[in-house]
Amino acid sequence: MTLFDQAKKYLPGGVNSPVRAFGSVNREPIFAKYGKGAYVFDEDGNKYIDFINSWGPLILGHGREDLIAKAETYLKEGLTFGLPTRIEVEMAKFLTEAIGTDMVRMVNSGTEATMSAIRLARGFTGKDKIIKFEGCYHGHSDGLLVKSGSGTLTFNVQTSKGVPKDVTKDTLVCRYNDIENVRETIEKYKGEIATVIIEPVAGNMGVVSPSLDFMKELRALTEKENILLIFDEVITGFRCMFGSVKKAFGIEPDLYCFGKIIGGGLPVGAFAGKREIMEHLTPLGEVYQAGTLSGNPLAMKMGLDVLRILRDNPSIYDKLYHHADLLEEGFNDNIKAVDLPAFTTRFKSMVCLFFGDFDQIKSYDDVKKADTKAYERYFTYMLKENILLPPAQFEAMFLSDAQDESLINYTIEKNKEALKYVKENL
Ligand SMILES: *Cc1c(COP(=O)(O)O)cnc(C)c1O
Repeated sequence: MTLFDQAKKYLPGGVNSPVRAFGSVNREPIFAKYGKGAYVFDEDGNKYIDFINSWGPLILGHGREDLIAKAETYLKEGLTFGLPTRIEVEMAKFLTEAIGTDMVRMVNSGTEATMSAIRLARGFTGKDKIIKFEGCYHGHSDGLLVKSGSGTLTFNVQTSKGVPKDVTKDTLVCRYNDIENVRETIEKYKGEIATVIIEPVAGNMGVVSPSLDFMKELRALTEKENILLIFDEVITGFRCMFGSVKKAFGIEPDLYCFGKIIGGGLPVGAFAGKREIMEHLTPLGEVYQAGTLSGNPLAMKMGLDVLRILRDNPSIYDKLYHHADLLEEGFNDNIKAVDLPAFTTRFKSMVCLFFGDFDQIKSYDDVKKADTKAYERYFTYMLKENILLPPAQFEAMFLSDAQDESLINYTIEKNKEALKYVKENL
């Protein structure tokens, strides 16, 4: 019996998060055994260049020795107390300074961060309705499981079963990059909308960048109507650049959500924002929010170590941008040379290769034309060449600092072979 067969016996679908089942690439998952630097090794003894990197947290790669040595001392200092700790204060100071905002609350996952930020926005504004964008994913809380991305896109489940209609009746869905659509929606529900939540660069329908105008108008419109703007930066935060990606757009959201990178590989999330909003949280205010393991010392210490390395070494970002540049150009050259319908999207260090006939990718309406069967063939070919890509079309490639240029060039070289293979098998 394979490990996956055993897994399926005890875990629904054999996994604890659906994308790991590799269903969208139509094969059994690989089981990770250990990681070192740019590589992940599986239970069968294979070695892969890792472009998943735990879906983002491992921006420094696997198993950095300096971080592991520190973690050993952290273990001895205590795992959890259920009391305030100094490290939480240090993390909060660091995060708010890095983001450029006033206050933060730590939670245990991105899902908790968005769920709690929305509750806060509703409590603060006294309004119930929210706007999200089709193809954006904000975790798996009930009210946000409407036309969300990645797992739910691939599985074509637009709204999960088990979510009562009453819970999603206040979730309005707009088209990404379409400000008129947002304007009409706000007009239609005037005075009823608490918040607009957005991935400032979408990373859960592949990589889709917003236009600068869209972002600026979205900020102006929400501000005018007293609607809080929430940036869900669970992917983009500290990945596209140090802190918030807002610097790329020159606008300021009211609340931010973080996760993934800021825990350095441990389970973590955070939401942050202006003091006058954040002070509505319990115990100061009347918006309830709590967590037994929130601000967990181990996660705070390991996350802060990663964030400090990122702050003190801006060259890491330059390197990731350079590698993303090489991948984008390399993929585009290969697409032309092989003459296959495919399209590369990219924002800073986030890269995605879509299969299909595209001249632009601006929203979910474009994305859904992607040829997922072609992606499956591409993924399978790359895996055979020891390159581990995200096992689904609608995901970004996650680069890490542990990758060097030779691995990037190898990936581009194999990409060309893979495109030829996909073309022959279209
Ligand atoms: C991953 C992700 C989440 C959910 O985070 P979890 O830690 O998986 O709960 C929320 N928003 C975005 C943009 C994400 O990419």
